Amino acid sequence: MNILLIGSGGREHALAFALKASPLCTRLIAAPGNPGIAEAATCVALDPADQDAVVALCRAEAIDFVVIGPEAPLVAGLADRLEAEGIATFGPSAAAARLEGSKGFTKDLCARYGIPTAAYGRFSDRAAAEAYVRSHGAPIVIKADGLAAGKGVTVAMTLDEALAAVAECFAGTFGAAGAEVVVEEFLVGEEASFFALADGAFALPLASAQDHKRAFDGDRGPNTGGMGAYSPAPVMTEAMTERVMAEIIRPTVAAMAAMGAPFRGVLFAGLMITESGPKLIEYNVRFGDPETQVLMLRLDADLVALLKAARDGTLASATCRWRDEAAMTVVMAARGYPGAYAKGSAIGGVAAASALPGVKVFHAGTALKDGRLVAAGGRVLNVSARGASVAEARARAYAAVAAIDWPDGFCRTDIGHAALAREAAAAR
Ligand code: AMP
Repeated sequence: MNILLIGSGGREHALAFALKASPLCTRLIAAPGNPGIAEAATCVALDPADQDAVVALCRAEAIDFVVIGPEAPLVAGLADRLEAEGIATFGPSAAAARLEGSKGFTKDLCARYGIPTAAYGRFSDRAAAEAYVRSHGAPIVIKADGLAAGKGVTVAMTLDEALAAVAECFAGTFGAAGAEVVVEEFLVGEEASFFALADGAFALPLASAQDHKRAFDGDRGPNTGGMGAYSPAPVMTEAMTERVMAEIIRPTVAAMAAMGAPFRGVLFAGLMITESGPKLIEYNVRFGDPETQVLMLRLDADLVALLKAARDGTLASATCRWRDEAAMTVVMAARGYPGAYAKGSAIGGVAAASALPGVKVFHAGTALKDGRLVAAGGRVLNVSARGASVAEARARAYAAVAAIDWPDGFCRTDIGHAALAREAAAAR
């Protein structure tokens, strides 16, 4: 198959790495791609928001299958458009992508179908939202309804913070995404990310991961897109995985089919494992970033066959295997991220780091300038490794970080600390 991968980040580099390894893949093209992806694919400069340009590229390159990485083109209906043009595509329709595109839609679906999630209210009126916040008190969580690039959520520990977050949403900070606000109960427990493929009717569990959202060590500092991740998540035991499939994933897939918007693609469930069981925090309708980087290092199956089965409706007869090993990714970000940061600083040592045992360096925000690798984003490299234990994966990942020469970058030094502590306790 000639395959087109849409996207340009670390997630897409990890997907490119796994797609390229499939015997089903004849040619891999990425649009727009990045210098890391270019090791596995031919990169074509293109804006994924320009659907006509994507269709034209598919025609010109005789593309058999398109894999869409990021959420924005999905919510904008790129999968619908490509399928209407007769081009097989992995990724949900715009109607099914509402699971990520509207938090209110997902909350209502959970309420209607008995899927465990935090208690909530939906508001398009500021006074009503404030009244709800006051009546419930803090801690409480305020969310802009729509896509806000991970920035629309405030976990408010005080009433003042909560009211300020409501005011911010209605003041238009998140644009149209904040015109409606979801206010929800603060959940207590351990967070985990869980991934499953769905083909409209059947759901196939993939694997779990945990990520670190805060910028600095000790889970301090501002929220980011993710500073590191590891897989599997120790809290996602086999029994917990089965509960999540039975209580959350399968009912969601059935509900979407029942409402005429069957979900085909990858469901990425953000979970809180509470005392009373798993609860859904949110859905994403695409692979996670940086979780995909660790999942692809553990995948022991043909990714093209799996994604094609999800698209074709044949997942029930598909199988997926995972290596027993752990995987970890450490995000190297530009100094200043998630605030203002400079672009263009030179990065050395990536080849040496990649040559270390068990290591793979995925590019998230890089560019080539006069033949040299430079930083071109906030999150720049995903230094990833596999190991027999979390401790080994972590030692390998940080050895690779040490081999990278990038004075303008920083990373957290404690990725996986909880899993490591758990592993050490289990060994005692
Ligand atoms: P989201 O963008 O919905 O994933 O939210 C970002 C982060 O906010 C999550 O990863 C959680 O750490 C936290 N969060 C979201 N909703 C809740 C909730 N209801 N209770 C506690 N924490 C939450």
